Amino acid sequence: MQSSRELQNQLRSIDHKSYPAYKALRGSYQFDGYQLNIDHVQGDPFAAPSHVSVFVPASVAAFPEYAVKNDLTRQALSDFLARQFAKQVNQYTFKAKGSGKSGLISVTQCGQEVLYRTACEVTNKGITARFAVGFPANGRTINARELEKILFEYLPVCVTQAFSYKNLNAKAVQAAVELAEDQDYIRKQLDTMGLVAFVADHAVLPRESGISSKPMKNSVEFESPESLRVSMELPHKGTITGMGIPKGITLIVGGGYHGKSTLLTALELGVYNHIAGDGREYVITDESALKMRSEDGRFIKDVDISMFINDLPNKKDTRCFSTEDASGSTSQAAGIIEGMEAGSRVFLLDEDTSATNFMVRDAFMQRVVSPDKEPITPFLSRAKALYEQAGISTILVAGSSGAFFHIADTVIQMDNYRPVDITEKAKALCASFPISEEMPTPFSMPQSHRIMTKDANGATRRRDYRTGAVKKDEPERLKVKVMGRDGFALGKQNVDLRYIEQLIDTEQTAALGIMLKYAVEKLIDGKRTLSDIAEYMITQMQKKGLSFFAEGSYIPGGYAMPRPQEIYACLNRYRRA
Ligand code: ADP
Ligand code: MG
Repeated sequence: MQSSRELQNQLRSIDHKSYPAYKALRGSYQFDGYQLNIDHVQGDPFAAPSHVSVFVPASVAAFPEYAVKNDLTRQALSDFLARQFAKQVNQYTFKAKGSGKSGLISVTQCGQEVLYRTACEVTNKGITARFAVGFPANGRTINARELEKILFEYLPVCVTQAFSYKNLNAKAVQAAVELAEDQDYIRKQLDTMGLVAFVADHAVLPRESGISSKPMKNSVEFESPESLRVSMELPHKGTITGMGIPKGITLIVGGGYHGKSTLLTALELGVYNHIAGDGREYVITDESALKMRSEDGRFIKDVDISMFINDLPNKKDTRCFSTEDASGSTSQAAGIIEGMEAGSRVFLLDEDTSATNFMVRDAFMQRVVSPDKEPITPFLSRAKALYEQAGISTILVAGSSGAFFHIADTVIQMDNYRPVDITEKAKALCASFPISEEMPTPFSMPQSHRIMTKDANGATRRRDYRTGAVKKDEPERLKVKVMGRDGFALGKQNVDLRYIEQLIDTEQTAALGIMLKYAVEKLIDGKRTLSDIAEYMITQMQKKGLSFFAEGSYIPGGYAMPRPQEIYACLNRYRRA
């Protein structure tokens, strides 16, 4: 490794040269208390900024043992530090001047959820922070003095302020770690207590606005109905009380605008931990919970949807169903089966975003359209078996159909943003509003195992550009282009993730992009099933982090770990394999 002095000398020697001379800076340099790595240098001042990282050894950072003792605490600490570093860096970005992206220092701006990000990783060796710097130039002429300011004046302040325990608020560090331990405790407690979710008393569920995930001010605090109130002893916070949502089928009802969807959304995001002050710190859901909605037009490949759909007029085999353009009901049927394959123990559904004909069929309609003319066995007729035979609970927001009262184990009414347990009342009324019980075919576990294959027309093989011949054994280098949170393109294929509502961060989408690329280039072989591939990638991600999927020798900042559920969802929506 070179010294920082040597970097300084190099900088001075390339000043005023043309931009590509910056390339010579690639390498590692020892600074006082940390190592600076220039991992990738941009080609010109208008291109994507250069990738830079710093490594602070554990001995220098000197965090107390409690903060670095296991994956959970290290994740909480990484998130905390990423936020501290961003605060520091934001003061210095564009202080250095020049053309294009000159002087930009860009780091991840974390949201309300705590995610594992490549922007900042804590291991027992130390802290690695990854970010991007726009190497300064005037026109295309290097302005090395400005880069010297960034690397020798600004960054050292940011690094020592953010990554050295003695410069941080010790109480805040401790609070972040203890919160994560309490949240983890609740999540682990759920199963033993027979619950799928917990919403603490005093939680703040609504958000400031449709475009802000900050808590709403002056909202009605959450208050559990007495009958559903449970209490837990958290390792740090002590006693906490709140509403426990039991396993089984839970219905959330209530008049329009009374807070049903707000509760469901909080439960959806309860698979993640939230930062202190969010209002949803103690809204905790089973980590495998899957929100599902109707997704017209999606791609489906080889899914056994016969549990819900049979005898289609076009005689398609629904035990191995494929389509380029799903209907609302087939998309939801496939979503459930894929969710089962991904190991989800809870499904979250909102009637408003579900396909009506997938959810229920009322008595009148059954009378008019006889069952042998109707290919769909609605979710209403399957939910109970899904729980009793496959152990999968359902939380369903229902605003219009009363049929679900008949199968619900728990009924919660949202009344002016306050939950009321109306299970008894609803059950008593069921007798007066009978549903004509459809006789569905017996429940059996789905049998599909999609085998991922390479595109037949050679899209994943590189072609010789003159002869057009496929170059054997030389995989095509696919490019990933991330389009915000909503999806990405892999080569020429768009992967649409708009309706994957528990995918919450562009960095997760970016991670799915490199993971799918890895799968296409290295794993899909016409033999492995989709779940073989998903499980392999999940294991590697958990063991080695997202750098496992890095293309070169390093991974830049800008990637956050998705959940296994979203990895499955992404593979399932890839049309080319
Ligand atoms: P529903 O799904 O029952 O129609 P929503 O959950 O969409 O109702 O909530 C309607 C509105 O009320 C939203 O604008 C939401 O932000 C607001 N809201 C939800 N919960 C609360 C609360 N606890 N306090 C204040 N406002 C709330
Ligand atoms: Mg609603």
